[in-house]
Amino acid sequence: MTDWELMYDSRGDSARVPELLDRVEGDLDPEAWQELERRLTVGAPLTFPASFAALPRLVRLAGANSRARRLAGRIVRYAAATDGCDDLLEECTASIVELGRLLDEELRARPDHYLDTFRDLLATRQQYHWAAVLQDSADAAYGVGCPHCPVEVTMVIGSHAQYSTIRTEQPNDVERRTLRPATPEQLSGTGRWMYETAVRDGRYPLAEAIVHLFGRAECPRCAALFTFADEYTAANRPLV
Ligand SMILES: [Zn+2]
Repeated sequence: MTDWELMYDSRGDSARVPELLDRVEGDLDPEAWQELERRLTVGAPLTFPASFAALPRLVRLAGANSRARRLAGRIVRYAAATDGCDDLLEECTASIVELGRLLDEELRARPDHYLDTFRDLLATRQQYHWAAVLQDSADAAYGVGCPHCPVEVTMVIGSHAQYSTIRTEQPNDVERRTLRPATPEQLSGTGRWMYETAVRDGRYPLAEAIVHLFGRAECPRCAALFTFADEYTAANRPLV
């Protein structure tokens, strides 16, 4: 049984959440959905104890209701940005596994909001940092510190150009270095899974971004070659 007395939401109280869950479970109630979304995620990357307490019921609705799927996905994705949620997340393990299955099923149907769903799915697999940054826009850019000298290297992985640079105030990224993408065969673990999922669903620009993220980049300052994904994962590893 959930002890709702302990489960505050974005407004600092908990009394409304169980009632709102009853209302959205009953039928389509747009006002109740809006209030539930505000109370459990407030639009910012934040979740609250009440968000996790609501998760099992949201996941039960999620098979037939895309709005429940969205909200549940966002709660899991934002979990990494919220201090002290580890125990609450652990209690939701079975719901998160089931949510992952539903999200994967949704991806196979190639929804319009594919990237959002993909990022939610990454979060259900505890790949929170990829869930937070993965982009598929025409001018996606990713920043990471060079492992060999003290500069921030930006990788631009757009549809027209892929290069590493040191981004300054000047326009056009004057100093560019060509990226060296991984071949699909070189990918393993999360990178391979991300790539194979994107290819399975016909998302070729996303697959192309993934082989670049898991490939090598050159630092324009010191000419060191490094793998963005390794540096990025190390920089975002949770403190233990
Ligand atoms: Zn460097």
